Amino acid sequence: MVKVESFSLDHTKVKAPYVRKCGTQKGVKGDIISKYDLRFMQPNKEEMPTAAIHTLEHLLAGYMREKLDNIIDISPMGCRTGFYMVAWGDIEVQVVIDALNYSLNKVLETEEVPAANEFQCGNYRDHSLFSAKEYAKYILKEGVSSEIFR
Ligand SMILES: [Zn+2]
Repeated sequence: MVKVESFSLDHTKVKAPYVRKCGTQKGVKGDIISKYDLRFMQPNKEEMPTAAIHTLEHLLAGYMREKLDNIIDISPMGCRTGFYMVAWGDIEVQVVIDALNYSLNKVLETEEVPAANEFQCGNYRDHSLFSAKEYAKYILKEGVSSEIFR
């Protein structure tokens, strides 16, 4: 079995919400990419319903790119406790947190889920803007930390 970095993190020791830089990799031409965990919920204690995390996925896709122009991808974790983010270059964790706080505040002002239709989404019926806002509020209240063990 190939060693997977995220499987070596002890999920019983972390304290959500947090942003963690998982690592950087250099391509054959010297380009750097970096990967982050945007952990919203406490592992094995809380999780987001699929409609909430799906709507947050659609919203973060746009709002995070308003602040960070080097994002490659932001995808939901299968455990529904947060998102993975991959970006060009090596971004400071605090810069990612600032972008995330900006984005979560924008979620609260959102009136319509972007791309929630059968042409642009694979499961457009499974969205909840109400639920997405409730979780955004919760994360903002808890405060996103750069310290994963607290
Ligand atoms: Zn979708």
